[in-house]
Amino acid sequence: MIKKLFLLLFLPFSVFSQHPTKCGTPFYINNQSSFFKEAVNNSFMNAKEWVNNNRKKLSTDSILNVPVVVHIIHENSIENLDDSLVYSQIEVLNRDFSRSNSDTVNMRSVFDTIAAPASIQFYLATIDPNGNPTNGITRTFTNESSFIDFNLTLDLMKDDATGGVDAWPVEKYLNIWVCDLSFNVFGQSIPAILGYAYPPAGLSNWPQGSSPTNPNFDGVVIHYEVFGRNNPYSSVNQLGTTISANMGRTCVHEVGHYLGLRHVWGDGDCSADDGLLDTPIAIDQSQFDCDSTKNSCVDFSYDFPDMIENYMDYSSEECQNTFTRDQVDLMYAVLINDRYDLINNNMISTNVETNLEYINISFLPNPVSDFVQISLVTQKKVNNLEIKLIDISGRVLLKKNNKNIYGNHKIKLDVKNIKTGVYFLQTNIDEKINTSTIVIQ
Ligand code: ZN
Ligand code: CA
Repeated sequence: MIKKLFLLLFLPFSVFSQHPTKCGTPFYINNQSSFFKEAVNNSFMNAKEWVNNNRKKLSTDSILNVPVVVHIIHENSIENLDDSLVYSQIEVLNRDFSRSNSDTVNMRSVFDTIAAPASIQFYLATIDPNGNPTNGITRTFTNESSFIDFNLTLDLMKDDATGGVDAWPVEKYLNIWVCDLSFNVFGQSIPAILGYAYPPAGLSNWPQGSSPTNPNFDGVVIHYEVFGRNNPYSSVNQLGTTISANMGRTCVHEVGHYLGLRHVWGDGDCSADDGLLDTPIAIDQSQFDCDSTKNSCVDFSYDFPDMIENYMDYSSEECQNTFTRDQVDLMYAVLINDRYDLINNNMISTNVETNLEYINISFLPNPVSDFVQISLVTQKKVNNLEIKLIDISGRVLLKKNNKNIYGNHKIKLDVKNIKTGVYFLQTNIDEKINTSTIVIQ
């Protein structure tokens, strides 16, 4: 009883005392850890290098498409949000990730060199885990008045057994649970957090222990009052402070975490970093404001002001309008290396763009686990065809040479002994070189 009273009286204040709390993601990370101060290790750099080499491909012909399922969990009709709010949230994600939001004009020009669009788009799943057609929205009635308690127990909404709903396979779908994350404090309903998300396990810019206790709890959770655009309940009161969050950007922020991004201030003071080079460091989160006068820490190369425009800050939604290039690169690397099955459907077989009219060359399957079958049809004699499998550090692992080819030609590449990962398949046709990506699994 005493313990319960203690929690009731003091926990809300320990959570809210300094400023309103937008996002629950830092609650489960140990921000005393030095792990994320030494944020960037080799594997992370490799992933970034891969992205750099493929930037052209990523920004032009390939959009990484992520299927989404939205689980609406409701105790009453208000929480049972309309489909239109779900559609508007998907639109906001696509608009903000592609940087086609009209408020990019509000970004201070000092950030022009680091702001970047992401070729990442989201769509409501059309096929459910059983192979049946779906609109990508599930609705579950619950008896739970809230999915967060004074112990900040997380993830109850992700389990049939605790009044929530089980995830769809987390490797194939981005699961977004929308439910009530309010405390009831002295009869008043106060959102404890507006949302939270887990990054994939083992990312080098996150401390250990950042992943969910159960792999099936992977995904994003959003408080129902701030989901979608122009949500009618979006004026949220957190212990006397009103937060307006009606632009759908809580979800943009949480999907950023899901794709590996840390808070832009690194969840610490000026010595803490988010593991990315281009994001300005800051002494703390923005306090839901749009204070463009702040420059709380001296950056390493160029001293930027604090970047309240960044989706990964706690600034007001009205001044958020961009990710940075390094943030975008990290999200690409996470999708390609850690969440590949989400985008897998879009990369089944690959045509090599040679710009040689007389040649048609393609390979399949992609991803591959044993043999790559390369098919070449040429109307003119090819004197020399060289095919190389190259790793992300540029090392040639396999090489095949063929001379004097005409007509149909098939080449088999045995990749059974190659480690799982992302590689390049390079074709050199009479000194015309083209590179495609291939995934070995
Ligand atoms: Zn956050
Ligand atoms: Ca600065």
